[in-house]
Amino acid sequence: MSKGLSTLRINECRHAATKILRQFHVNNPDDIDVETFAWHVGKLRVRLGGLSGSEGRLVATSRRGGVIRVATDRNLGRYRFTLAHELGHFLLHPRTVVDKQFQRKHFTVWNKASEEAEANYFAAELLMPKFLFKPRCPGTPSIRHLDSLAEEFRTSTLATAFQYWEYTNEPVALVLSEGWDMTSFRPFKDGWPRIKFGEIHEHSAAGERLAEKSDDSGRMVRTPAYAWLAACPDTHSDLVFVGEMLYSGFS
Ligand SMILES: [Zn+2]
Repeated sequence: MSKGLSTLRINECRHAATKILRQFHVNNPDDIDVETFAWHVGKLRVRLGGLSGSEGRLVATSRRGGVIRVATDRNLGRYRFTLAHELGHFLLHPRTVVDKQFQRKHFTVWNKASEEAEANYFAAELLMPKFLFKPRCPGTPSIRHLDSLAEEFRTSTLATAFQYWEYTNEPVALVLSEGWDMTSFRPFKDGWPRIKFGEIHEHSAAGERLAEKSDDSGRMVRTPAYAWLAACPDTHSDLVFVGEMLYSGFS
């Protein structure tokens, strides 16, 4: 597994975002107007369309600004995240000419030390800053809660789930999968219990749904711990069940 971003670098990326929020006196989620930030901070204009195969593209020079091109604004959350991500490249990776393409798969790059991960940390913090997001996290995790956060911050469910993982005090892990294959995950905060990475287990709620044995319940359900956790239940027999919340069709 490749090396992740250092905490120091993550904090630098977040700091670049909070600096803008302070500059624009942002006090609530409605104040987060990425187009205005992009124009005032970097003379970056936003254009729609004209892209093939990518979500966004930045063509700019650090001195004279330029254009952020976004594929579509049909999904507001994705549109805003793409804008914020490109603004992140502009501020964090200044070159004479910046020319960056943002693809859908870059969305989930968080755990590799790369410019994509840096731009994602910047974007998440710009759209869902800790001082506004964390106070809204308490309570039992639920899909309704994540949906209401996504609505209030005008963010995608995927980006909201990642930021929730960052700032909730609840013991949560996040697994992304395509069909039966897990594509990435974020572990429980203190590294325990460990997630069994690989294929979705048929006894998990996700597995039952894939096998068409049951529908998505739309809420937290009890799942056998061995379906998700390494070394369970053999060595940690006190942990027999975990709560599982299924979110299908992340957007
Ligand atoms: Zn990028």
